[in-house]
Amino acid sequence: DLRQRVEDVILNRDENAGERLLELAESFRGANAEETTAQEEWRGWEVKKRLEYALVKGINAYIVDDTEEARHTVNRPIEVIEGPLMDGMNTVGDLFGAGKMFLPQVVKSARVMKQSVAHLIPFIEAEKSGDVKAKGKILMATVKGDVHDIGKNIVGVVLQCNNYDVVDLGVMVSAETILQAAIKEKVDVIGLSGLITPSLDEMVHVASEMKRLNFNIPLLIGGATTSKAHTAVKIEPKYNKVIYVPDASRSVGVVSKLLSETSNNYLEETQEEYEKIRQRYSQRQTKPVRDFKDARENAWHCDWSQQSITEPTFLGRKIITDVSIEDLIRYIDWTPFFITWQLAGKFPQILKDEVVGEAATNLYADAQTMLQQIVAEKWLEIRAVVGFWPARSIGEDIEIQDVDNNNEWILLHHLRQQHLNDAKNYCLSDFIAPKDSSRKDFLGGFAVSTGFGADEKAHEFEAQNDDYRSILIKALADRLAEAYAEYLHMRVRTSLWGFVAGEQLTVEELIKERYQGIRPAPGYPACPDHTEKTQLFKVLNAEKIGMKLTEHFAMWPAAAVSGWYFAHPQSKYFNVGKLGMDQIQEYAQRKGWTQEKAEQWLSPNLNYTPT
Ligand code: SAH
Repeated sequence: DLRQRVEDVILNRDENAGERLLELAESFRGANAEETTAQEEWRGWEVKKRLEYALVKGINAYIVDDTEEARHTVNRPIEVIEGPLMDGMNTVGDLFGAGKMFLPQVVKSARVMKQSVAHLIPFIEAEKSGDVKAKGKILMATVKGDVHDIGKNIVGVVLQCNNYDVVDLGVMVSAETILQAAIKEKVDVIGLSGLITPSLDEMVHVASEMKRLNFNIPLLIGGATTSKAHTAVKIEPKYNKVIYVPDASRSVGVVSKLLSETSNNYLEETQEEYEKIRQRYSQRQTKPVRDFKDARENAWHCDWSQQSITEPTFLGRKIITDVSIEDLIRYIDWTPFFITWQLAGKFPQILKDEVVGEAATNLYADAQTMLQQIVAEKWLEIRAVVGFWPARSIGEDIEIQDVDNNNEWILLHHLRQQHLNDAKNYCLSDFIAPKDSSRKDFLGGFAVSTGFGADEKAHEFEAQNDDYRSILIKALADRLAEAYAEYLHMRVRTSLWGFVAGEQLTVEELIKERYQGIRPAPGYPACPDHTEKTQLFKVLNAEKIGMKLTEHFAMWPAAAVSGWYFAHPQSKYFNVGKLGMDQIQEYAQRKGWTQEKAEQWLSPNLNYTPT
């Protein structure tokens, strides 16, 4: 039929040929012909093959109808799960393991599986023919004080689609809750996740508790700041059945070994490996650091008498209300979005990548569709507050004047590099005019969140057995938060503070931070002390826009960014790096902390092992 109509047009057989071709073209709309043929073809297969195909391809459009049809072809509904669904998931597992399928596709396959199973469950229960026997039960939780759960949720999905039962306790879960649930649910393995550095200590605490309470099940450790070294050196000495899992794709391998008959061998091998890491760690030469007083001598300086300083257009805090999500979309840095989904490569080249290009392109298209929905249906609310304050430096500290609160001076604490290189030993306070310079200087601050509504939407998707979109909305909210931070910083430079005139940067140049000034975030390398967020939130009154800090200083909502603005033309990001006990002791004194407390909060930065 198609050929006939095309020929009619080419050969100009009659004047209606064009119309007839257009008519037929309608049925090819929205897909390329190849896909349409493939689509039509698999819809004609027998139902078990269709289920398997839908699962492997992650197509959920027909899943309920197909599941229902399949249910009528078997004696017991459970056979649909044990047959085609399991076969499909095994294929997915194999392809993922072999690097031929990627995380977004796996999460989509898992969605098909869950939606099919959800349809079958009432029939299975009505029949009381028993459950599908899962391969094991895993408890997952983001530890106390931490709100980040994208990684945990991904691991949960990957485990579930490999037929493990997952009990997910959510975020900010205390050791006590985790261990009580582990006992009650009779789980086989506990998996802990966290993103910010304070979570590392919390994981050590959970491990100690497991030992104290005589637990004997394996403990998995994962998340952005965790590492094999930290697991071996800090966690395993507290509880010896612990395994570091570097990413979601490894989780199934690790869990299946742990629950196999040879699990003891596997644990022993891991213990030996971790023992070696500990030995290497204890024998390592700690890199010497410069004495704190010498580092101070080697501070970076500028000639403050000649330095031009711009006064902000207002002082104190201001809530920003004139920005919409649509304004932010073009400022999104997409590369980290693909990293979240374990697709490696720089945007936009990644879309054409030989290996992950197709997966990346599909994911990107889904992201665009969801962004449109986020805007059209107002799924997320965005909020921001900025502030500028008179500021002066006193050694490593900075004082800012809280003009909204009786002009009280608030003390911010910073740390100085102690490296022994030829370079200067930087501290953020170097970029602010010293108190005795008699120059009036300023510091800015901001907090933004695009995560209001994200949790609710994610739960809605989870209730529909749609982990794919639940993870996607969180990943997009995170991207929008970073985009807001980038966009707001631009407005600060060019108008709100106004220390640059006529900045003309492309989005690419913004993402590469080719501009004057920085916005260091407490908890990041130039200012690694997370507790300093307290002062930032206080002067901004960030609670007024609904933002909160957890007991470990993670921001809520999770899709949030905050930091200080430095305008100095030579201000730059750096890494404070390893610090000596001399600076730690002084820092503790300045903060009114014990040395032990300072060592705890700055543990990744110590160049010595605290006693
Ligand atoms: N465009 C990226 C931003 C990456 S992180 C994205 O969308 O994910 C960039 C932010 O981290 C900076 O704006 C700053 O707030 C913080 N940051 C980066 N390096 C830092 C450092 N060395 N010290 C303190 N904060 C830093």
